[in-house]
Amino acid sequence: MQLRILYVEDNPDDQVIVKRTLAKYMPIEYVLTVAETCAKGFEEIEKTDFDVVILDYRLPDMTGLDYLKELRKTKFSKPIIFVTSRGSEKIAVEAMKFGAKDYLVKDDIASGELVQSISEILMEASLPKNIDIEAAKQIYQILSENKKIRIDINSEPTSEPKCAVPTDELLKALSMMTEKSLLIAEETGTVISCPQCSSLSYSLSLKCPDCGVGSMTKGEALEHMTCGHVGFRSEFEQANKELVCPKCRKPLKIIGVDYKKVEIWYRCSRNHLFNAPKTVFTCSACGREFSLDEAFLQPLYQYVLSDSGAEALRLSLLAHDISGNFTKE
Ligand SMILES: [Zn+2]
Ligand SMILES: [Zn+2]
Ligand SMILES: [Zn+2]
Repeated sequence: MQLRILYVEDNPDDQVIVKRTLAKYMPIEYVLTVAETCAKGFEEIEKTDFDVVILDYRLPDMTGLDYLKELRKTKFSKPIIFVTSRGSEKIAVEAMKFGAKDYLVKDDIASGELVQSISEILMEASLPKNIDIEAAKQIYQILSENKKIRIDINSEPTSEPKCAVPTDELLKALSMMTEKSLLIAEETGTVISCPQCSSLSYSLSLKCPDCGVGSMTKGEALEHMTCGHVGFRSEFEQANKELVCPKCRKPLKIIGVDYKKVEIWYRCSRNHLFNAPKTVFTCSACGREFSLDEAFLQPLYQYVLSDSGAEALRLSLLAHDISGNFTKE
């Protein structure tokens, strides 16, 4: 990741100062493009998507203030740092009115204040204030490699590389970023959650609908139509492979005539026979048992970065890297 800076300034001495200051204090990779005139500045903005513009007041073809006004007429929206000489603070105030994000006095640039200012305005222009920066970083890393994050059934986000941020933090960051349109949440399905605590983590068990006992077997069942008995095929099967009804002891003859298959049936350990066991969910978080009818339904999302999200994340990570590594001596 690289920071792209445009510097609009024709004075060679000032150019040298800014170049030296950036070389000395900017702790991350950057590209500095210098435009000698406002006209050149417009040209460069057409060519490159700059992250920040440093704009001098005194320029050969128009003043920095007029340049700001012209920029405002275009869709250019990147932060601008205005530079004036000492004693021209009135101009600086004007510049802020016309959309400059910060202003610096020329003599202070060499002190590293420039780098601090860049870091602050990038941060301001990027992510929602209270977002967890580690979570944002992880999201950005995952999305830059995979293009999407899927939240899976047990709320474990599935991604490669694996996400090191706790699931809660990640989910919070994802929903916050979705709210701000930085991410687009696509609904991919529905999962159930605990009606008591909303947890998505549970185990599923089967119970006998008659007695509630949990141990059961299943098998292919037959119905002897002559006497109405239903039982597993294994109970009809004799040693010689012939089928005999265990209830009325009559042999089964022709399928569809005196007996039929009734698909898969279940039998509990107390001998109840049923074709649909009761499904019981047990919440891993609060222990509540609930049926499918009682469960909450939750939409399942997958997240992709929006264009503004990609840009915001990039800026905030740049800002974070600058402020994390910047030392003003
Ligand atoms: Zn039972
Ligand atoms: Zn029978
Ligand atoms: Zn629960």
